[in-house]
Amino acid sequence: MERSEAKGQIAEVAQAFGAQPFNLCNLPSALYNSIMFPALIGLTAAAAASAAGYQSMAPSAQWFGRTFAAGTRGSKQIALTYDDGPNDPHTLKLLDVLAKHSARATFFMIGRYVQQRPDIARAVAQAGHVIGNHTFTHPLLIFESEARTRSQLVDCHQALEDAVGEHSNLFRPPFGGRRPATLRIARELGLQTIMWNVTGYDWNAPPAAVIEKKVTRQMRGGDVILLHDGGHRSMGIDRAQTVLATDNLIQRYRDQAYEFVTVEDMLAVSRQLSAVS
Ligand SMILES: [Zn+2]
Repeated sequence: MERSEAKGQIAEVAQAFGAQPFNLCNLPSALYNSIMFPALIGLTAAAAASAAGYQSMAPSAQWFGRTFAAGTRGSKQIALTYDDGPNDPHTLKLLDVLAKHSARATFFMIGRYVQQRPDIARAVAQAGHVIGNHTFTHPLLIFESEARTRSQLVDCHQALEDAVGEHSNLFRPPFGGRRPATLRIARELGLQTIMWNVTGYDWNAPPAAVIEKKVTRQMRGGDVILLHDGGHRSMGIDRAQTVLATDNLIQRYRDQAYEFVTVEDMLAVSRQLSAVS
């Protein structure tokens, strides 16, 4: 398990329940270990339960069904992904930065915001970026009934249809949280579940330099990077630091001959590779 991934997940879960961001180092060590190292505890019931908890939140975990979290390690492709938009005015500012670098990205949008600002969603689509489903109101789906999970996905799909028409079949669960039923329902609706392998830790809008450092430390090529152009609590959250970090990150990795692609592009390459191997 990537320790940094688990940290990001725990911070997101805490945020989901309204907790203030906390320093993981302050966790009691027993709790810390039960979260971080379930595999080391042994095959007891407690460990199994702990591991199941980890599997429901960790971006790269696959026990609960296959998801896509990253391209081929070492490849020169990077997929920037932005969650929780559309958000006024930062989504549009982000579009300017992406256009400046001729970079494409993937946006996982919240349906109710799409209904509020279909014009921003359309601007994203018209700029050539890929738009995916991030549910209608951003609930933690681990705790939602199957019926409500389905309606969350369908309602977001409909909002996107109304705003931009045809869009991708990509779906990202809020907070990365899912259980087997979540993935099955997504599959039944023709959606492909997309996670990430690099976390920007930009939820609480730290300075751009902090976001950049977090990202660059996790990069290994073929990465799917989680960033936010919006916030699930309300529209209008300040994402200026994420926009600035994006500008700098693109510049840095372009200089190293990386290419910025959509998740759809990255998936197409992965399919080709698995077809020939
Ligand atoms: Zn989200």
